[in-house]
Amino acid sequence: MTFSKRLRRLQPWCSKCGSVNDLTVDHIIPVVHRPDLEFDVSNCDVLCRSCNGRKDALTRGDTPPDARPHPSAKAQKLLHLQMIVNKDAGDAS
Ligand SMILES: [Zn+2]
Repeated sequence: MTFSKRLRRLQPWCSKCGSVNDLTVDHIIPVVHRPDLEFDVSNCDVLCRSCNGRKDALTRGDTPPDARPHPSAKAQKLLHLQMIVNKDAGDAS
């Protein structure tokens, strides 16, 4: 199973609007800036295609990645996901 499929199986809904259709994995810090975080769950969010497109339009270019806020509830959720994905990673390799 690919990394993005696994994430979408763990969270089969959009983080922003709750839609379950057309889900994509969004990178909070764009992979162009941090290619090493491409498969880091803490840098990923599940968004539907329309929310992902909207976010790209809003954040393109300007805000430095580490200036963005990290809400603690979300951080906790991501930590939890990270644990599950790491535990689950054994069968992939
Ligand atoms: Zn959405």
